[in-house]
Amino acid sequence: MPELAQVVVDVPTMQTNQPYTYQIPPKLEKQIQVGVRVIVPFGKGKRTVQGFVVALDNASQYEGELKPIQAIMDLQPVINPELMNLSKWLADTTYSFWISCLYTMLPNLLKAKTTRIIRIIDEVDEHVAFDIFHGRDELEMAAVQDKPAILSELFKLQKEGKIAIEYQVEDRAKAKTVTGIRSLLNFEQLEDERASLHANAHAQNRLLSYLQSIGSQVVKQKDAEHKTGLKAATFNQGQQKGWLEKTPVEVYRQPLAMQVTPDDAHLAAPLQLNADQQNAVNQINQAIDNHDPKVFLLQGVTGSGKTEVYLQSIANALQQGKTALMLVPEISLTPQIVNRVRRRFGSKVAVLHSSLSNGERYDEWRRIERGEAQVVVGARSAVFAPLTNLGLIILDEEHESSYKQDESPRYQAREVAKWRGKYNQAPVVLGSATPSLESRARAVKNVYHLLRLPHRVNKQELPPIEVVDMRDEIKKYGESNFSQKLLTDLNDRLQKNEQSILMLNRRGFSSFMMCRDCGNVLKCPNCDISLTLHMDTRTMKCHYCGHEEPIPRECPNCHSHQIRYYGTGTEKVEQELHQLLPQARIIRMDVDTTRRKGMHAKLLRQFGQHQADILLGTQMIAKGLDFPNVTLVGVLNADTGLGLPDFRASERTFDLLSQVSGRAGRANKQGKVIIQTYNPDHYAIQDAKTHDYEKFFNQEMMLRRQASYPPYYYTVRLMASHPEEAKAARAMADIYGRLKQGLLSSTVILGPTPRAIARMKRRYYYQIVIKYKKDPYLHQLLFDILQDTQSRGFKDVQVSIDPDPQYFM
Ligand code: ADP
Ligand code: ZN
Ligand code: ZN
Repeated sequence: MPELAQVVVDVPTMQTNQPYTYQIPPKLEKQIQVGVRVIVPFGKGKRTVQGFVVALDNASQYEGELKPIQAIMDLQPVINPELMNLSKWLADTTYSFWISCLYTMLPNLLKAKTTRIIRIIDEVDEHVAFDIFHGRDELEMAAVQDKPAILSELFKLQKEGKIAIEYQVEDRAKAKTVTGIRSLLNFEQLEDERASLHANAHAQNRLLSYLQSIGSQVVKQKDAEHKTGLKAATFNQGQQKGWLEKTPVEVYRQPLAMQVTPDDAHLAAPLQLNADQQNAVNQINQAIDNHDPKVFLLQGVTGSGKTEVYLQSIANALQQGKTALMLVPEISLTPQIVNRVRRRFGSKVAVLHSSLSNGERYDEWRRIERGEAQVVVGARSAVFAPLTNLGLIILDEEHESSYKQDESPRYQAREVAKWRGKYNQAPVVLGSATPSLESRARAVKNVYHLLRLPHRVNKQELPPIEVVDMRDEIKKYGESNFSQKLLTDLNDRLQKNEQSILMLNRRGFSSFMMCRDCGNVLKCPNCDISLTLHMDTRTMKCHYCGHEEPIPRECPNCHSHQIRYYGTGTEKVEQELHQLLPQARIIRMDVDTTRRKGMHAKLLRQFGQHQADILLGTQMIAKGLDFPNVTLVGVLNADTGLGLPDFRASERTFDLLSQVSGRAGRANKQGKVIIQTYNPDHYAIQDAKTHDYEKFFNQEMMLRRQASYPPYYYTVRLMASHPEEAKAARAMADIYGRLKQGLLSSTVILGPTPRAIARMKRRYYYQIVIKYKKDPYLHQLLFDILQDTQSRGFKDVQVSIDPDPQYFM
């Protein structure tokens, strides 16, 4: 029997980023396992914290006194051995705390909440007892923490030793249950009961027969009532007579938005694959069967049948008795894709979706953990789904930057997927129409295995793309979001009763307010960024910190009334469209119209049922949609992302235009795409126009090589922030000195510079970007720097390290 447990505690600092040793008290001997959460005393006084048991040990090598584990929170591990291993790797490669990595893997409901209880431990006067504690002897800190008057009294009482603060960790996860019944007697005993029944006690007689039929099973009482036609009262009598007992049965909250619609029946059967698809499926299946953790890059334009390849490979994994994980970006986790998987694999599928409630998410997680779901579809964090015996991992739209989490732990789901592939000896399939430069470069070097689907399934050509130069348009026709060309085509589709999709590229773009007289732009008081106009709430909002204020009537700088809106929001475009095409029915899709749960799916359903002629939206409409009646796609402003200070700006623009073009002409009607831009000659736009990924890839690779950017170099970004600008700058200068001294001379250090958005949430940000090919000193040095920034000289400076950053703003 191990006597000691290694526990990683919920105190996220560098100093505590290691396991601590605790005694296992005899009463918990049997329950303590690796992967359970426990409550342990930590630090001074009575403070307790939650932690995870990460290893068990024998006492022999330890001397001195160890504290015992106080309580156990789980009856079985919530982190399985694979995920335990993974969490260690994750903490190391993302420069984050082990404890944060462990929590990241769990559904929200299993994340700790600490309740602070203030308890009376000595005599207090009546005023305190009644006015503050309301006659009880304890009080939740949360109830008074914003009441300074009470707080100061409490503070005094604590000094006098009359009250004490306790930390309690409370577990918020509750499985949803309904009443179940179970027989307490065996078949013969139930028969004996029958013998002593009154002759006309028909209902009780039936109940006895029913109990005999279910043996030792637990059955939901509602189901039992339904089956037998007996009333609840009869079951209560049975309980009183000691025939049965009532016991809670766990039920799963089936996410409503995810129920399949009946007209999808044709999706159930696998399709006859074409030769390219068959080749891809064969190679993937072979890797599954051979336990070969190969990484495939499945490159194929939209509509080339990638999803069908995924589905048939998943089917093979299931046949081998294995499980499968399929990741898609959040915005393409649409009901359409979910339906396709559900239709094929039915109740074997669990879906992890950000619009699930915490309860629903927890239930799906439990189904996976118990092995009741063998196929998981989900967005980024689903890469931690507790599937065991993984046989296949798929990452669709692998180039999407949303696979990288941009807060700690800053993991890249693609890398985590590869880690899990190796651990389980299972292949990983990365799919995309426009692979990231990194992945495609790896395929060129045979690190990944390239599979291609060069043609669209329906032999439909990719739609022709027309590029409209908006500079000419504005000269000729004045300012508008719509070129004459686009308007003519929209009108034409209206006449033909066909549908159109319009995309407004909102990247790096928003509607702001500027004074015409002094040029003052209304900015957030906390952040170095302009406020965005929201017509629905009639306010100006900061998209970074959430600051909100009324729309001003006059310029706060010069008091002029000549203050007006610039830029284009979807709302404004919608208004203009209503004026230009009054007969068109429009559905607008953006963060505002889809914020409410289920709205995303609802709007798409309405559009699919042709309740509107035009779907107008932001990037969120660019992916995964498949509407046969859509024959025109318009991009209103293709180039707003091109000007951003980011080496991936061209790649993102190319990806986006390629994606959105794939929305036109999905069925047998010919589609068409119109791209409006101020940079018609830019190669990202020209190559998207000709659907030429190869050309774009070669051009972009050349530029990346010249500038020493990925995939030729790796990057890491360090950021330091402080409420005072000088302190952030000084901290960064310090760090720069250490890097310069400790790293190879072939490693490039850019900065320190203020971030593009220099101030956010009342803090100033400075950054350093490191570019390197191979530097044996880098990893350890970065950890040392993190460690040091938590000590003396760096008071209140926050330092973060982002490996392979996706954005440089
Ligand atoms: P992608 O994921 O590459 O965009 P899909 O797998 O969604 O492509 O396929 C596009 C369309 O073609 C879908 O409507 C799908 O049902 C259909 N499809 C895919 N493979 C086949 C096939 N082998 N035979 C017939 N139809 C297919
Ligand atoms: Zn702000
Ligand atoms: Zn002004």
